[in-house]
Amino acid sequence: LEANFSVIQEKNGPINGLITVLHDVTEQEKIEQERREFVANVSHELRTPLTTMRSYLEALEDGAMSDQELGPRFLGVTQNETERMIRLVNDLLQLSKIDSYDYKLAFQSVDIGQFLHEVIDRFEMIAQNKHITFIRKISSKPTYVKIATDKMTQVIDNIISNAMKYSPEGGNVTIALLQQGEKLQISIADQGMGIPRESQTKIFERFYRVDKARARSVGGTGLGLAIAKELIHAHQGEIWAESEYGKGTTIFFTLPAMQEEDNQ
Ligand code: ADP
Repeated sequence: LEANFSVIQEKNGPINGLITVLHDVTEQEKIEQERREFVANVSHELRTPLTTMRSYLEALEDGAMSDQELGPRFLGVTQNETERMIRLVNDLLQLSKIDSYDYKLAFQSVDIGQFLHEVIDRFEMIAQNKHITFIRKISSKPTYVKIATDKMTQVIDNIISNAMKYSPEGGNVTIALLQQGEKLQISIADQGMGIPRESQTKIFERFYRVDKARARSVGGTGLGLAIAKELIHAHQGEIWAESEYGKGTTIFFTLPAMQEEDNQ
């Protein structure tokens, strides 16, 4: 804690008062340190694909280009790395917009059950390729919420993609919708590798990954859940994870339910 004192006193008169300004230095330092870490992380995340691309381009220049097998393969690697950098920069731009409140949510009232079905339907093809089965525990009774559908689609896409990415072939992914008083709770449960207890809150931090090498090989940016958290908070909801290491993970989030009279 840092304190600045100012004495209030007329010339040669009595002291009338004292103004004390207290700064929470530790809080400021913490923010400053987080900012430095963030910049270091961004630089590292951008350098990794760039150095990979450089070495593959060098190999192509050194003759791999005229090799029938290596040429297309190395070009493919540089293409994937480019895609990864685009995803990363898009995620960063989105976070920076959120941080500066430079965005508007276009809220719309929708039946959340139907909305969930539509989002899950789009994943059925990819899931089938990985022999993953979606189990839907969604009541057919219409339940209305006010959401920005594009942002909510992004949140659920991210959580479902993670559930599939960090699961073995042949698992189930269960999506459930539950009404709890004034809140709706949505959960997405997988039977994958799980998350160690000490990491369960950290996965919502920017760039935090349980296993960096693995996460990178499955194409993640490490920002998906950080963006999801910001977007859920912007909807007045909460988001958290429960997981048993080696058994599976469930990501929960809540949304305020619309009152009956709101959807007339
Ligand atoms: P990434 O792009 O790395 O997937 P996210 O922000 O989406 O970034 O997730 C952060 C980290 O949380 C992941 O790298 C992974 O370690 C962990 N994680 C997220 N979802 C799951 C899941 N369903 N099962 C196991 N680990 C998960």
